[in-house]
Amino acid sequence: GAVATPGNFSSCLVSNGVKNFSLPTSPSYAGLLNSSIFNLRFTLPSVAGPAAVVLPESRDELRRAILCARPSSLAIRVRSGGHSYEGLSYTTENHVPFVVVDLANLNRVRVEPGSATAWAESGATAPISRHDMAEIVRYLSTGPTGSIQLDPYGGAMARVGSSETPFPHRARNLYSIQYGVIWDRSQVARAEEFIGWLRSFYKFMAPYVSKDPRAAYVNYQDLDLGVNNWTRAAGWSSAEAVARARTSWGK
Ligand SMILES: Cc1cc2nc3c(=O)[nH]c(=O)nc-3n(C[C@H](O)[C@H](O)[C@H](O)COP(=O)(O)OP(=O)(O)OC[C@H]3O[C@@H](n4cnc5c(N)ncnc54)[C@H](O)[C@@H]3O)c2cc1C
Repeated sequence: GAVATPGNFSSCLVSNGVKNFSLPTSPSYAGLLNSSIFNLRFTLPSVAGPAAVVLPESRDELRRAILCARPSSLAIRVRSGGHSYEGLSYTTENHVPFVVVDLANLNRVRVEPGSATAWAESGATAPISRHDMAEIVRYLSTGPTGSIQLDPYGGAMARVGSSETPFPHRARNLYSIQYGVIWDRSQVARAEEFIGWLRSFYKFMAPYVSKDPRAAYVNYQDLDLGVNNWTRAAGWSSAEAVARARTSWGK
């Protein structure tokens, strides 16, 4: 029979209804390929890229993509999170032509409470979508040396009731985020500019974080969100004063 080629691979995908793939000639190719390359050494131009990045939307599409790649001259690299230290999910040795089958869209998590079992498809990663994370990283790269630190909440923490310790943030709080911007002594005159940038980044993050109110952990007091207001107004009980102070901190 005819020798299969990378070109045959893409026409095989199309004729088998697998639409979500990108070829090196496509404008989306670099973005998709680099979207989860953790070790940026492997994004250098000297590293040969795949003949295609395929993102199956279902297990059936995954099966059809593999069946198209098999008869071609292409090796298959399956990518889940792309964290492999050696870049094994998106490279080959000796320039062997290959395709990346990226499982990012196979990201469902199913919990079976009866058997206390959870099944996670291997594309399931952070609860923030790749697109949103890429936007956040892009914004971070526009400014001075900025950083965000995401501390994950929820999970086993939720076994402790939110009123049982002074730290109430548990289930339904995905992360606590700390925003930072760094400058050195020689740049002191630009401090307001840097803080202004951090505020613009903070504003940019509004669609991604808690709303009505935007909440803050009390030990990370944030004067852009609320104020200390512990004084007891005439006629208020101390419980009301505490409740009001909590509201003013978004709690
Ligand atoms: C900064 C850093 C910290 C780390 N910390 C830890 C740690 O604390 N503990 C720990 O255990 N590990 C740690 N690792 C290692 C990491 O967890 C492993 O590399 C893991 O394999 C990454 O998963 P991934 O889904 O991102 O893999 P990928 O990079 O997507 O794939 C890794 C390998 O598995 C193959 N593969 C991917 N998906 C599938 C699939 N569905 N079926 C079959 N094969 C598949 C790929 O082709 C590749 O060969 C760390 C890695 C980094 C970069």
